This record gives sequence, C-alpha cells and structure tokens, in this order.
Amino acid sequence: MKKTNYHIHTNYCDGQNSMEDMILSAISRNFNSIGISSHAPLDYQNDWTMPQDKLSQYIEELTLQKNKYRTKIQINSGLEIDYYMHTKQISKSAIRVLKNLDYWIGSIHCLGVMSNGEVAYIDDTEENFKEGIEQLYHGNVQKAVCNYYESIGDMAVKFHPDIIGHIDLIKKNNSHQQFFNENAEWYQKAWRGALIKIKQSGSILEINTGGAFRYGIRCLYPSLDILKAAIQLQIPLTIDTDAHCIQAVDFMMDSILDELKFLNVDTVMYYNGKKWISQKI
Ligand SMILES: [Zn+2]
Ligand SMILES: [Zn+2]
Repeated sequence: MKKTNYHIHTNYCDGQNSMEDMILSAISRNFNSIGISSHAPLDYQNDWTMPQDKLSQYIEELTLQKNKYRTKIQINSGLEIDYYMHTKQISKSAIRVLKNLDYWIGSIHCLGVMSNGEVAYIDDTEENFKEGIEQLYHGNVQKAVCNYYESIGDMAVKFHPDIIGHIDLIKKNNSHQQFFNENAEWYQKAWRGALIKIKQSGSILEINTGGAFRYGIRCLYPSLDILKAAIQLQIPLTIDTDAHCIQAVDFMMDSILDELKFLNVDTVMYYNGKKWISQKI
C-alpha cells in the first residue's frame, strides 16, 4: 500500500522544521504521498498560524518542492484551516486560497473571542480553556462541548473539507475528566451527531497521532469509541500524524494500521494528485 500522511506542519506556522526538511524526512521514511498542511492565517492575532503575508510564498514554495522531489515522492498542497464556532465561517483569505490547494483540513481550535479581545482556545493551556468556558459559556462546559461538536458537523456539511482534523480535540484539556465526563450520554450523543454530518458531507475522518506524540496516548484522536462508530457509519479514514517536527512524521502509523486491521477496516483514503481514492491496507 502507499504510505501517506496529509497532516504535516512546517515553520511557516508553528512547526519546528522547514518544508523541505519535513519532505526529506518523509522521503527517508519511505512515504509515497504526503500533504503539507500548515495552519492557515487566523483572523486574530496569534503566534501559531502562518502570518497573512506569508501565504503566497507558502503556496509558491509548495509548487517548487513538489517539482523538485516529484520522482521521489508525491507532494500535495494543503492547509489546515480553522472554522470559527462563533461566526460559523472560515476566513475570507482561506476561501480565496482554496483554488490553489489540492486539499484542506478543516479544524476547530478556537473557542471564541473573549471580552479583552483575546481568543480562547480549545487546545492551549487548561487555564485559557477554563477562562473561555467561563466567559463565553458562563461556565457551562456541556454547552461548550456540544457547541463544539455541532460546529464540527456544521463545518463538514457547509464547507466539505477534504479531511476533518482531530475530531475530539475538545478532550485535550480533560485528561482527568475535570471538565466533563467522556462517558456521559450527552457527550456520546454530541460526537455521534458530528459523525452523522461528516458522513453526509463525504469528508474524510483522520486518525491523528499528533496529540499522542506531544501529550501522550490519551490525546490520540479520535478515541476508540468514536473510531468504532465512524467505522460502523463507513466514514472514509486516513492516518495523519499532525507532525510539527521531523521526528513525528510517521509517529504510531504502523500501530494504527494494525489497530485498523484488528477493527476489520480494510481501506484507507489516498490522494493521487487529482482525487481521493480508497486503497487496501
Ligand atoms: Zn490542528
Ligand atoms: Zn495540525
């Protein structure tokens, strides 16, 4: 089978290594097809996405690298684009750049904008997450989490991203179940609702090992319950490492493949430079 990974960051955003270093790392690990997916510029001041004035350079460099290494690896131009829960939109600059991309990942990292103008994030510190819930949801965690999954589903049906990024990122700051009980019926209902909309949208669900690399196995996205439900719904899957450094380019890929086989999954999605096709594992 073709070895693939469509979620790779670079130092255009918060990745540690250059685009070329990430590509060379993928070549040395025998990947056949990869996608570079730096964080698209955000509408808000931040230190982790690509700045707006770097976007055209990013697209140009992708084209150059694609050609430079085309006999060794198939490189696809992507971006990880944020969907904003509070406006139900992606940024206008992201919409404009879509035509220059082979594919994109739709993700939600922002909880909303707080009264001081700062963004509260889902996956920043626990304090920042807590503050966001207090300010934007009057401390009602269940409401925030349900809104998150509803937004994931709405993003899928409204914008049809090729890939839905780390579907249950909302659990990142919940390692001791201190914000909500992941076994609660309402929680299961919330993510199931998102899965049903993803199925309707035709988007691919990624199994994302980036959180596991950085924060431990609890941050493997999605959790097993969600993965099993996605398999039951026959949602197409792909394995991505959300790599922010060269060491993470194929992190846990083999074990995830084994797990998928154990769960009787026999195909994953692969981008052949023109379209997504399923390939046997
Ligand atoms: Zn992300
Ligand atoms: Zn990412």
